[in-house]
Amino acid sequence: MPDRSPLPRRALLLGGAALLAGSPAAAQQQTLQAVASFSIIGDMLREVGGDRVEVTTIVGPDQDAHTYQPTPSNAKAVAAAKVLVVNGLGFEGWIERLARAAPFKGTRIVLTDGIAKPLQLDASGKSGHKHAHDAPDPHTWQDIANGRLYVRNIVAGLAAADPASADAYRQRGADYDRRLAGLDDWVRSQIATVPADKRKVITGHDAFQYFAKAYGVEFLAPIGISTDQEPSAQQVAALIRQMQREHIKAVFIENMSNPKLVEQIARDAGGAVGPSLYVDALSKPGGPADTYEKMFRHNVPALVAGMLKN
Ligand SMILES: [Zn+2]
Repeated sequence: MPDRSPLPRRALLLGGAALLAGSPAAAQQQTLQAVASFSIIGDMLREVGGDRVEVTTIVGPDQDAHTYQPTPSNAKAVAAAKVLVVNGLGFEGWIERLARAAPFKGTRIVLTDGIAKPLQLDASGKSGHKHAHDAPDPHTWQDIANGRLYVRNIVAGLAAADPASADAYRQRGADYDRRLAGLDDWVRSQIATVPADKRKVITGHDAFQYFAKAYGVEFLAPIGISTDQEPSAQQVAALIRQMQREHIKAVFIENMSNPKLVEQIARDAGGAVGPSLYVDALSKPGGPADTYEKMFRHNVPALVAGMLKN
C-alpha cells in the first residue's frame, strides 16, 4: 500500500507536537473527523475519504431526514468535526440550528453547490406540502449525473480541509466517478427494456423528479417532496382514478416512510405493491441497498419489473 506510507511519519510528527504541546488529543489527528447529514452522502464520503476520514452520519439507515430531530450526541459529533457534509437545497431543515448550537467551526461542504438549475416543486397543488411553490426539490442524488457532482464537491472539500491527503482524495474520487458513470449507463439500459408507454410508477412521496427527468420515467405520488404532510381524500381519489385510467399497476413503498397510505391506494386501484424502494436513506449494512450504488442496483430492477405489469 504505497499511498499509505506518509501516514506513520505524519503520526510521529503529530505525536512529537502533541508531547510538546502537552496535548494527547493531537496524537489522534491522523484521520479527518467528518460528519455527514444523512446515510447516502455518508456512504459517498466514505468512498472518497477511505481510511483517511472518520465519518459520523447523523440520519442513519432507514431514517427519514425530512422530519429528523437532532440529538445531543449529534451536536457533540458536529462540534468535534473538521468537516460537515450536507446535501443543501433545504433537505436538512434542522442543520442550521444544529451547526449553530454545536457550534460547528470547520469546513462545510454543500454537495448541491454547482447544480445550475434545481428542479422546482410540483406547483399543481396536488402535493399539499408546506414549502413555498418556488422552493427547489432537494432529491438531486436520484440523478447519477448529480451524484458525480457530489463526488467532485467532496473531493474539493476534503482536499481543502486536509491538503496533505489531497492526491489520495482525488485518486479515490476519480475511481468512484468511473464506477458511477458505468452505473448511469446501466440504469439507462435497464429502463430501455420497458416500452415507453408503460414507464409510470406510483411512489409514496415525490422524491423521484430528478430520476424521472434523467431516465424517462413518470412518477406519481399522493404527497409532495417532504414526508410531513397527509394528502386530502380528494387528492387520493384523483390519483386512484388516474391509475385506473392509465392502467398503472406499479406501486412502491419507501424504506423510510409509513407504507399504509400507499398500500391502501394500491388496493383501491387494483395495483400491486412492489419491493421497498430506497429513496432518502440507505438500508442497514448488509441490507439490499447499503451504498449509493447498491441503491440503484436494487431500485431499478424493482421499478422495471413493476412497470412491465402496467
Ligand atoms: Zn424526500
